[in-house]
Amino acid sequence: MCTERMATNGTLPSKQKAAQFQPKDQTVHINEVPIPSIKPDELLVKVRSASLCHSDLMLFEPNDQGLNLGTGDPFTMGHEGCGAIVEVGSEAQGFKKGDNVGWLPIVDCCFECEACQVHNLYCETGQAKVQGMTVDGYFQQYCAVKWRNAAVMPDGMDLDTAAPLFCAGCTSFNAVEATKAELNRDPKETYVAVIGCGGLGHLGIQYLKAHGFKVVGIDLSPEALEEAKAQGADHVFNPKTDTNYVEEVRKLTGKGCHAAINYTNSVPAYSNAPDIIRYNGVLMVTGIPQKSIPFSAMDLSMLRLRVRGANNRRTDQLRDCLAFSHKHGIKPHVTQYKLDDFQQMLDTMHAGQHKGRMGVLFD
Ligand SMILES: [Zn+2]
Ligand SMILES: [Zn+2]
Repeated sequence: MCTERMATNGTLPSKQKAAQFQPKDQTVHINEVPIPSIKPDELLVKVRSASLCHSDLMLFEPNDQGLNLGTGDPFTMGHEGCGAIVEVGSEAQGFKKGDNVGWLPIVDCCFECEACQVHNLYCETGQAKVQGMTVDGYFQQYCAVKWRNAAVMPDGMDLDTAAPLFCAGCTSFNAVEATKAELNRDPKETYVAVIGCGGLGHLGIQYLKAHGFKVVGIDLSPEALEEAKAQGADHVFNPKTDTNYVEEVRKLTGKGCHAAINYTNSVPAYSNAPDIIRYNGVLMVTGIPQKSIPFSAMDLSMLRLRVRGANNRRTDQLRDCLAFSHKHGIKPHVTQYKLDDFQQMLDTMHAGQHKGRMGVLFD
């Protein structure tokens, strides 16, 4: 029997289309799936936009970072989305039908233990999972999200382009805030290099410029550097074609950048970063390569380099990111696709031919 459930904006359909990852052969299919039934601690959201993150490509690659991704039964991809609430679970606090929300993707964690205060993925229950990486994510029109992961969006924030804020935006914002706190100096007198000017970096540049930092964009892709300039980078370098870029950055900045935020998943980008960072400068680790990154113990012990890390972390930081983004007019640059063209979007990201973010806009 086909049951229909009522929502604020009419009757919910019984089925929907979803872009699903099939672990057994690492392929993606557009499947027909049921509308999820929510648990008491969940919200049912009608997704307006969902975006593709570089981390989604980890499903198609091996990793030695201890991540358990892309196993088991087929599941819906996507861990960046936003939309409007259509059902509120009985335990959810602070949300009502019709609220525009975005959210973080870690589920089946307790949100309470000491490890959860660091990152929900570390939850001491050992049950934490990432939506879109092992369980259903957001490349479907209706999805269930934990109320404790969700944040109401500021009035007037554009739902069509906001999806990347809930992973890339929050991560790049936290990296910029952590860099600012670690440096603790006048941004106007401070050079920060953004290594990787794509999905994360193009937002990182906007956050840095909103604080007044001087920004040096570095990327191997001419498209990404074009985007970096469009987002306000003061100088850009392509290590592939600007073979003297280390000397040029040093000349430009005096003795090297005060900090570099690496948004890429490239081990060589990490190995080469100290070359453009001045003594006792900060290297902010954000992008996650498949392999571990080597650092010199001498560099760390003798304060040649301060290595710190940043990630999307907790919902309170997400709220700060949303408020700051809205106040400063910071917007992800999103190229929109139809759900049926998901494979094309994936292929474009695999080929590194995109600018900013790519996403699916639902009706
Ligand atoms: Zn992501
Ligand atoms: Zn926990």
